[in-house]
Amino acid sequence: MSGHFMEHNHVTIIGAGLAGLAAARDLHRAGWPTTVLEARLRVGGRAYTFRDGFAEGQYAEAGGEFIEDIHGRMLALVQEYGLSLDPVRGMGEWTRRLALSGKHGEADETALWGFDLAAEIEQVWRALATLGTAVPDPTQPLTAPRATELDRQSAADWLAALPLHPFTKQTITARLRSEYLAEPEQLSLLELARWGSLYYSDPTDEGASFRVRGGVDQIPRLMAAELPDVRLGAMVTAVQQHPSGATVTFQQNGQTHTLETAYVVLAVPPGPARQISFDPPLPAAHQAMFNGLNCGPLTKVIIQYRRRFWEDWQWRGSLLTDLPITCAWQPTMTQPGESGILTVYTGAKAGADFSAMSERERIETAVSQLDQLFPGSAALVSHTRTMAWLNEPFTQGGYALFQPGDVTAHWATLRQPAGRVYVAGEHTAVHQGYMEGAVESGQRVAKQIQEQRS
Ligand SMILES: Cc1cc2nc3c(=O)[nH]c(=O)nc-3n(C[C@H](O)[C@H](O)[C@H](O)COP(=O)(O)OP(=O)(O)OC[C@H]3O[C@@H](n4cnc5c(N)ncnc54)[C@H](O)[C@@H]3O)c2cc1C
Repeated sequence: MSGHFMEHNHVTIIGAGLAGLAAARDLHRAGWPTTVLEARLRVGGRAYTFRDGFAEGQYAEAGGEFIEDIHGRMLALVQEYGLSLDPVRGMGEWTRRLALSGKHGEADETALWGFDLAAEIEQVWRALATLGTAVPDPTQPLTAPRATELDRQSAADWLAALPLHPFTKQTITARLRSEYLAEPEQLSLLELARWGSLYYSDPTDEGASFRVRGGVDQIPRLMAAELPDVRLGAMVTAVQQHPSGATVTFQQNGQTHTLETAYVVLAVPPGPARQISFDPPLPAAHQAMFNGLNCGPLTKVIIQYRRRFWEDWQWRGSLLTDLPITCAWQPTMTQPGESGILTVYTGAKAGADFSAMSERERIETAVSQLDQLFPGSAALVSHTRTMAWLNEPFTQGGYALFQPGDVTAHWATLRQPAGRVYVAGEHTAVHQGYMEGAVESGQRVAKQIQEQRS
């Protein structure tokens, strides 16, 4: 065991994802000594770009990808570091091309579907905006007048009450599965209403999204480069709190180390947080929160094709389907080259099934389901990679999923420190599930710690 005495205001940040790095950066800039302990051999956590093995210098995001136009903190980081953004079409892009019950085409092909599917989808966006009015302040869902009642219900209850054609329900279900990593019955209606209020309040505004040109992982790398002490391969196993500080125990290079610190930022997802032992134990509400919250299952299969066969079909690459693959899009929309990449994004139950497959089987399943829709495409595959976030020991899922009851049970605790331990991570944020939320949470704890000392 090696021990180090640290200054009385030293902060140890557990996890070098965007949340931990944002906390460390703000504290460091304010003059606080910081140490970041990261279990993996790279920074960024779920902000991770796949580059190796792809022809023509193309790349795709293995984790976080899109930055929305209302994500001011992420946009500010992009600007500050001199990075460029590539625009992505608005929200409507996701429900334009559909493959449902063996039919396959654009939502507005009324003859194909037998009714005006595109108009019904518009109707759902309006219903979501109306649902959102139940949560007047999406940053404080517990203040909604019917918070408890809504949190007891699920998105399935809401969907069942809407007079929609089964094809529309299949479309919206596929959308919920890929957006919230949940089957509709697994998603708290209070949480969906909060999203309705935060992101869908104007059904005519498709919003704009962006990707970071060259890969999103540039952001965490640039953030880490500003910091004085980031240790990789350093897996925290225990946090012991005492009256004047805390002792953090971590494994690095096969050895056990300890670090004396004044404050701890716990910026790891709920699954990995459960595996850290706390002495004394965390307060009951924090234990209940970490035991009760999980990240939903999520896999990506990244498929590079020798040519962009989708252009033959006047298709841009975005698709929602009731096939197990659930959702696809094209990360190379703005990348040069003959080749092109499709990302298959699978959450909820199908995401759990895909996570249980071997990598090879998962890739073959995705390639063959796309070939079913676009015959001949499988023969054009040149390179593939996949990531099942549920199987990653330091993540254990895609992003947090709030099941019925979870918002009322855990919302307040997610933002409260446990003694000297400050909890950050996308799961604790207003913009939960997004990189924006990770940064928001890191900035929040940096502020909370500084207020503690002033
Ligand atoms: C497939 C996928 C697609 C996504 N798409 C989008 C998107 O399009 N847009 C968007 O904004 N967001 C998206 N997200 C969400 C976004 O990536 C996350 O919200 C964000 O990156 C989470 O950051 P974080 O810092 O909270 O957690 P993480 O990035 O998970 O960071 C936690 C860090 O803690 C480390 N760690 C864990 N346990 C320990 C331990 N015991 N000791 C030390 N270190 C430990 C981990 O290795 C990790 O580096 C997506 C996520 C996934 C998985």
